[in-house]
Amino acid sequence: MIVIMHPEATPYEIDNVIATVEGSGWQTHISSDSGQTIIGLQGQGQALDPFHLGQMPGVEDTVAITQKFKLGSRSFRPEDTTFKIGDIPVGGKQLMVIAGPCSVESREQVMETAQSVKEAGATFLRGGAYKPRTSPYSFQGMGEQGLKILAEAREVTGLPVVTEVMSPTKVPLVAVYADVLQIGARNMQNYDLLNAVGQAQKPVLLKRGMSATIEDLLMAAEYILAHGNNQVMLCERGIRTFDNKYTRNTFDVNAISMLKELTHLPIIADPSHAIGVRRHVKAMTLAGIAAGADGLIIEVHPNPEQAVSDGDQSLTLPQFKELMAQIRAMAEAVGRTTETSHQ
Ligand code: PEP
Ligand code: MN
Repeated sequence: MIVIMHPEATPYEIDNVIATVEGSGWQTHISSDSGQTIIGLQGQGQALDPFHLGQMPGVEDTVAITQKFKLGSRSFRPEDTTFKIGDIPVGGKQLMVIAGPCSVESREQVMETAQSVKEAGATFLRGGAYKPRTSPYSFQGMGEQGLKILAEAREVTGLPVVTEVMSPTKVPLVAVYADVLQIGARNMQNYDLLNAVGQAQKPVLLKRGMSATIEDLLMAAEYILAHGNNQVMLCERGIRTFDNKYTRNTFDVNAISMLKELTHLPIIADPSHAIGVRRHVKAMTLAGIAAGADGLIIEVHPNPEQAVSDGDQSLTLPQFKELMAQIRAMAEAVGRTTETSHQ
């Protein structure tokens, strides 16, 4: 169960509820949601009467939640979470389309890509300045210089920037340049990092770990939500299964549909990392939309053959333009819009 305190509840009223709950043998976990204190009951205590708790001064509501994840659950908030990044709506009817290179490689590469994807109808620019690479011998990213290039591309195109942050100590720096902080698959359970982006109060794109269950992903999101940062998007980017000969990962389309049922948070599909093969990105993109994704994140490069990372899965600029036309058609077929639906 969770107890939702009224926005005007006094510290005394909050302490009083905590004391009552703890007095019955429960542990408490305190978090906040839009300025309201949320008291979560943990462990095994004596049965508490929700009606009695609900009558205590300062209490707005009590909600019985049987799932392990609380703040992200539909039991806690039945309606979809929506918010705006700049003037772009997230989580509503309009599909978010995030496009750009895997890695920031040069000013020219980012500028050319940003202008082209903007023209094609993308609503966000992606690009990694800090790259979590499986091999320490692979390109590790341009660091702050890369962040500056992304910020310049935003200036020119107006596209908000999605970029990865890999360590808690880098969160303040990346937050200066980024509009959305991306947590990569390899860091989904880096709890210090989750706490740091929770505290940063910036939108977060949380990618599913390659061996993470749906519940693991939802539990990771709780760490961010517990800081009162509700601008969290979850990303299905493919998981490791037994077949990796032809495809990079297994795109868990199931998870997209299931997550839409379990959580009110927006769900983003990443067909690029999921399949890892350029010529199949289109099919997986359309499958992601059909499964109910609220947005897409797609890798695009002016010259994929020369890309320092993920060239095999990166679309060329004309391929992305072509894909946007199909994204619009599929969006329409499932009752959604894109910023450029009218084109
Ligand atoms: C990326 O988005 O380029 C990336 C590194 O993704 P993931 O963390 O999903 O592997
Ligand atoms: Mn990549």
